Amino acid sequence: MLRIVAVLGLALALLAAVLVANALRPGAAPEPAEPVAPLALERQALAERLSRAIQVPSVSGGEGSAPDLEALRELHRRLEKSFPRLHRALEREVVAEGSLLYRWAGSEPGAAPVLLMGHLDVVPVEPGTEGRWTHPPFAGVVDERFVWGRGALDDKVSVLGIAEAVERLLRDGFAPRRTVYLAFGHDEEVGGAAGAGAIAALLEERGVRLAYTVDEGMGIVARGLVPAVPADVALIGLAEKGYLSVEVVASASGGHSSTPPRETAIGRLSRALARLERSPQPEAIRGPVAAMFDSLSGEADFGMRLLLRNRWLFDPLIRATLRREPAQAAMLHTTTAPTLLRAGVKDNVMPSEARAVVNFRILPGDSVEGVIAHARRALDDAGLEIRVLEAREPSPTSDPGSESYRALARTIRQVFPGSVVAPALVLGGTDSKHYAAVAEQSFRFVPLRLAPDDLKRIHGTDERIEIDAYLGVVRFFAQLLRNTTG
Ligand SMILES: [Zn+2]
Repeated sequence: MLRIVAVLGLALALLAAVLVANALRPGAAPEPAEPVAPLALERQALAERLSRAIQVPSVSGGEGSAPDLEALRELHRRLEKSFPRLHRALEREVVAEGSLLYRWAGSEPGAAPVLLMGHLDVVPVEPGTEGRWTHPPFAGVVDERFVWGRGALDDKVSVLGIAEAVERLLRDGFAPRRTVYLAFGHDEEVGGAAGAGAIAALLEERGVRLAYTVDEGMGIVARGLVPAVPADVALIGLAEKGYLSVEVVASASGGHSSTPPRETAIGRLSRALARLERSPQPEAIRGPVAAMFDSLSGEADFGMRLLLRNRWLFDPLIRATLRREPAQAAMLHTTTAPTLLRAGVKDNVMPSEARAVVNFRILPGDSVEGVIAHARRALDDAGLEIRVLEAREPSPTSDPGSESYRALARTIRQVFPGSVVAPALVLGGTDSKHYAAVAEQSFRFVPLRLAPDDLKRIHGTDERIEIDAYLGVVRFFAQLLRNTTG
């Protein structure tokens, strides 16, 4: 008996030693990032130029999904006026009528070019909510602290921020060694196929191979929001999830509702959907999410390090914790979201058909085919018809060990000293997905410090940007170009 206790005690002590040793193991040291003096910028002039772009209602996805080319052309004109040096020094092409592609020729034709992107379009203001805005959404009001309006955060901040950085570098006499492309799509909010898709196809046709692209998708999470990491955390999206919408159709005999069949189309579909919901796609911490935990573990307090550095043991505990919050649960697996349901025309008529649309966002590592197979098993009704409406595999995952990632991380720490940089997974979609074939690495990151309050404003009411945060965006893009193309 005593021997068993002793052996058990020894085993536990050994386990504790391993756990603690893993927690105490030093992480990979971040690249040295010598701080740079903040670029002096004319605060008011920058705010005014952003405001003038916000005043153009370049809305996508409103009534009729066609892009508003009139508004887009007006936006093009305003950019031309606001950034004269840029428009003199760079070649500009209008692609698919609404999108813009600029080329800033580098002095070394052999060096792989880079591409910075953003999108010109914005989402509509939800009808009925106009009155809740502090300032009208397309007035572009500038006050002491903010520029207000639709697009301030998503995503005119990127377009104008990149343009300001280039304008400034030109003024300072900077000449890039590598060629720099700027790509501003016009239909990101409705998928980006016409704009970013056409630009990427054009680059591919011309044999362009980009070292990296930088796009929206992630940002800087304010201190306190990432548990146990006492710093601002800059998250760089390495990949975005795939997209799949399927229609599920149940059929039954129709007829008068006074004599219903034993199984109705609505009942059959509902039961299948309930089974699907009870049987989520499998969970796994891997790829960009695993890389995020690896990276954050070096910066977290001891308790969190103990967990994150010993995922072989604590994986179930970590997953159980993440599962509680939908935004975190979505990092763990391919999500399943029934979004549309349709059946019946009248209260006393049995519908002969009931239809549902289920939208899946596919975790990198899963596939369209695998998700459909899992859904079919979970629906568990061979009589249902399953039709794929739209499908896109997850994007490739960029390499957090690549030179481009390290340069991006170093730039962030130079411009935002004290912040921690970590890779991440983008749960929604961005224009970057269209560039997979032409880009070595694609990073999704806008250097904007976001408070939880800001997240509600994106696609919501009272979208606005803090002017000082906007200056940080411009400084970041200028420094990134200096670091990677100078
Ligand atoms: Zn956007």
